[in-house]
Amino acid sequence: MVVEVGTGRPPAADEMVDEPNCVAMPGLVNAHDHMYQWATRGYVPDGTLFEWLRALYPVWARIDAGTVGAAARAAMARLLLSGCTLSTDHHYVFPAGRPDIFETLVEAAKELGLRFHPCRGSMSLGESKGGLPPDSVVEDEDAILAASEDAIRRFNDPIPGSMCRVVVAPCSPFSVTPQLMRDSAELARRHGVRLHTHLAETLDEERFCIGRFGRRPVELMEDLGWTGDDVWYAHGIHLNDAEVHRVAAARTGVAHCPSSNMRLGAGACRVEDLLHAGVRVGLGVDGAASNEDANLAMEAHQALLLARLRAAMLGRDDAPRALEAREAWRMATQGGAECLGRDDCGTLEAGKCADIACFRVDDLAHAGVADLVAGLALAPPARAQTVIVGGRVVVRGGRLLTADEEVITKEVAAASVRLRG
Ligand SMILES: [Zn+2]
Repeated sequence: MVVEVGTGRPPAADEMVDEPNCVAMPGLVNAHDHMYQWATRGYVPDGTLFEWLRALYPVWARIDAGTVGAAARAAMARLLLSGCTLSTDHHYVFPAGRPDIFETLVEAAKELGLRFHPCRGSMSLGESKGGLPPDSVVEDEDAILAASEDAIRRFNDPIPGSMCRVVVAPCSPFSVTPQLMRDSAELARRHGVRLHTHLAETLDEERFCIGRFGRRPVELMEDLGWTGDDVWYAHGIHLNDAEVHRVAAARTGVAHCPSSNMRLGAGACRVEDLLHAGVRVGLGVDGAASNEDANLAMEAHQALLLARLRAAMLGRDDAPRALEAREAWRMATQGGAECLGRDDCGTLEAGKCADIACFRVDDLAHAGVADLVAGLALAPPARAQTVIVGGRVVVRGGRLLTADEEVITKEVAAASVRLRG
């Protein structure tokens, strides 16, 4: 944990990290991801969310613990090298007869040294029952609830400074039943863990909810008990004015994923309105199949540009202030920590977890920039020079210390080829 922050002569220490050419920030927090997707990048380069999902479900049906492990190690390596120290992972594909997928994710985070909030995700509404995914990738609801409870019992650590907290996370309104949403919320609250799901990502989803349930996505979540400060949604793009205020009043969080939203043409999240209404907003890289990267600092950069573009397109003459540079960094750190329920992460101060990212500012990309903190959000980000998680140095000199980046690269390339079939 951080004992003291200050200037002057450093206190005595076993190990000294001296980075005169860096800006030290709180470690970045990734509030939405699907790490297994690192092995399925570049599919459906020009499709909508539903087109992209329909093409990828059969590929994802072939994953096993081996492919998930290789993909997750790649995603985690990229996150750590971009200054991310705390990440969630929303894993919702558990093909029948492929054991140990969730365990493999937890192990990978432990090995690489990433603070981790794995979500036990799920899909239960197959095509034959009117859902979007094929029946081959959905699970039985009793089995989902039992597996979720098992994951909490085995891996959830509620203490301050925890390196692993489990989340319960049915995938989306078009891939699970309302009953599973209700039962999942009840289970999570009985164990004091958090809830996460995709919501209001596309207009296709909105049409699905209105057609099937007669409810807009936010109304559906309100009916099912999926609101509150123990819930955060991924995306939250297509909210009307009243819904923005209801999400704020309920203290529900939102993970904004600008690169993925632009890649899939899903829409532009109303970040400025959400923040203004008091919503806890974090940033997420989303799965690499709809981003092709996992660089949280890049999401701060993208969020800043997208919010300003959105304001300009609404005819606003103060569009550059729609999202200020320092606010983008606050979302990438404290905002994400608030979504994940971590009041011990997200800022650099005494008593908080010692999660620190040092970004180099004497390189070609950043040398001489007048306002270094703003400059790091305005310029495309570089690799982090030193990254510390829980007091452990995991990146030094821009290189991963906890695993071999070249081995990870080769393994994920092989896993990607295997899945392509
Ligand atoms: Zn997602």
